[in-house]
Amino acid sequence: MTYDLTEEKVMTTTSSCDSCGMPIESGRYCGYCTDDSGALQPFDDRFARMAAWQARRDPAASQQDIERQVLDYMATMPAWRDHPRVLTR
Ligand SMILES: [Zn+2]
Repeated sequence: MTYDLTEEKVMTTTSSCDSCGMPIESGRYCGYCTDDSGALQPFDDRFARMAAWQARRDPAASQQDIERQVLDYMATMPAWRDHPRVLTR
């Protein structure tokens, strides 16, 4: 077995989900952010999931804090940074 870790190969095999930032092997989105047909889930669905996840990570935070943290995070994601809810946060 030979290893061919050229720079080009490393770049093409390192990817992250455009919606949540999770490392993925290929494509634009991870399995959590897409529906059964592979399409990106609606903003509200992703926002609710990320808010629930953030609330578990930071149980002391208020709902308002959680939502602001999630919107701040989504503002760094290519899939959501131009979304009206993110732009007007
Ligand atoms: Zn994702």
